[in-house]
Amino acid sequence: MIKDNVEIVKKGDIEIRIIREKCIGAATCIVYAPSTFDLDPTNIAIVKTGEWDRLEKVIAAAQSCPTVAIEVFQKGKKIYPK
Ligand code: SF4
Repeated sequence: MIKDNVEIVKKGDIEIRIIREKCIGAATCIVYAPSTFDLDPTNIAIVKTGEWDRLEKVIAAAQSCPTVAIEVFQKGKKIYPK
């Protein structure tokens, strides 16, 4: 779901948000978590359907983002960025 230019995707107790206006298409998130992130045709990161990478990899991907465009929540609590 994309709302106010933020993609919000939930799976189990994990929620990933991509602040689309912050994304510069650097693609480091994809290097760290290739099963979780991809780029759309306009070079903005999107969350993939299907099996995601382990949570540690998802967080590493979020940490790698130069613009902090990825936020990760667990059980409704923001775990990155803190
Ligand atoms: S690392 Fe950040 S800026 Fe780069 S594609 Fe992923 S979300 Fe976008």
